[in-house]
Amino acid sequence: MTDSNLALDPETFRQLAYRAVDMAADHLAGIRDRPVYQPMTLDQRADLLDQPLPLQGITPAEILDRFAETVLPFPMGNGHPRFFGWVNSPPAHLSVIAELLAAAMDPSAAGGDHAAIYVERAAVRWLMELVGFPTEGSMGILVSGGSMASLTCLAAARHRLALRQGWNDRTDGMTSEHPSLVVYLSSEAHTTLHKAVELLGLGTRSLRVIPVDADFRIDVEALREAIAEDRAAGRLPFCVAASAGTVATGAIDRLDLLADVCVEEDLWLHVDGAYGAIGILDPDRQERYAGMGRADSLAIDPHKWLSIPVECGCAIVRDGALLRDTFSLVPGYVRTEEGRGIGGLPWYSEYGFQQSRGFLALKLWMTMQQVGRDGYVSLISRHNVLAQTLARLVDAAPDLERLAPVELSIVCFRYRPTEVVLGDDALDALNKAIMEEIQAGGEAFVTQAIIAGRFSLRANIIHHGTTEEDIAMLIKTVRRTGQRLAATETSV
Ligand SMILES: *Cc1c(COP(=O)(O)O)cnc(C)c1O
Repeated sequence: MTDSNLALDPETFRQLAYRAVDMAADHLAGIRDRPVYQPMTLDQRADLLDQPLPLQGITPAEILDRFAETVLPFPMGNGHPRFFGWVNSPPAHLSVIAELLAAAMDPSAAGGDHAAIYVERAAVRWLMELVGFPTEGSMGILVSGGSMASLTCLAAARHRLALRQGWNDRTDGMTSEHPSLVVYLSSEAHTTLHKAVELLGLGTRSLRVIPVDADFRIDVEALREAIAEDRAAGRLPFCVAASAGTVATGAIDRLDLLADVCVEEDLWLHVDGAYGAIGILDPDRQERYAGMGRADSLAIDPHKWLSIPVECGCAIVRDGALLRDTFSLVPGYVRTEEGRGIGGLPWYSEYGFQQSRGFLALKLWMTMQQVGRDGYVSLISRHNVLAQTLARLVDAAPDLERLAPVELSIVCFRYRPTEVVLGDDALDALNKAIMEEIQAGGEAFVTQAIIAGRFSLRANIIHHGTTEEDIAMLIKTVRRTGQRLAATETSV
């Protein structure tokens, strides 16, 4: 025995874990009966914020008590079937169990010859197959999310460009001796792509933001013109960062056309499919994804539409050898040989920025097997159908106005009172107030999008338990809140 508390005797471990499982099971089973979201009081926040670290450890039982009282009752809300905010799915229940088992094994998936590595290889290959990305020669790596996935992919894009231009970004860094590089993306592209470009040392001045068409897809003609302009000015175009499911409206860029442009212009095609790449599983949407399999790289977030608990993102690169060349730097202390000792496949740490890596793959591997391809096809298709239902209800309501086409499972709309005529600024303010009231009210949860400069309510259907009644209730809540706020607005 040691004097640390890190090891529990097996019986104590069992009892504590059973209690934790009961808490998790009750939590998951009771979600529908609780408010979607409940703001914490100042005291409840302070209780957590100001808690001192005990000098002497306290018992696990006391800690679980405290968790049950001060943490568990205040979730973000995404477990609830009427949480329509951002792109936050509920956890697949089997994934919750997988998290416990992954922690019990606690491998570092940096690399080596142990099961976690092969589980990740398999799960990532399943992801590629699910979205129709070629597996032969490609390489994928699980990362924290879409942000890290796009950063990883764009690093590979930069590396290829540098090598083709006869310099090496890894040794030379970004210097002013090289023409300034240009990345193209649409005005609807996710801001994490901007961040990635900044972190890669390209500077946001290397971003060329291309306008979108009426369906919020990148304007391919404008893109071609911008590329020509940049070349004429001596700049070096190197990458188009497309969207397969924008975060605001779910728009899918015309990937086939973009792939053509990239071939003609010798550019890297990156597809940000963090939310939407999985939408390809809906047979009614499939053709909109034509060309996605031609991309040089793809970012997918299993922690979105596949309902894997956060965090679980995936970076996929068509040229796996190039990805390795972008990141491989094997310190002496982890050099291994295949087939000897713990040597195994090339280490994951050669394909990305992280050295130690968690066993993210286990929850993905378990949940994908449980749901199966068909299960995901019906889940994703049902969400898209529910979004169409929501759009029809919006269109039918005299005081609601839809602000964007519904491509996938996102609906953008606003409340517009019928009794008074409000200008756009007043409508922005009113709808922001409606959103805030609804968020704090607990009946449903919506967030916002800015559509052509105007404030929009935005509902994303991504929960396996959401029903048509939930959709109807969202509509009711928005209209009731809108009517009440519009009445008080005009009476002051
Ligand atoms: C969520 C999202 C991201 C960012 O991914 P994280 O998992 O939050 O890091 C990027 N692009 C799109 C389209 C997204 O929906």
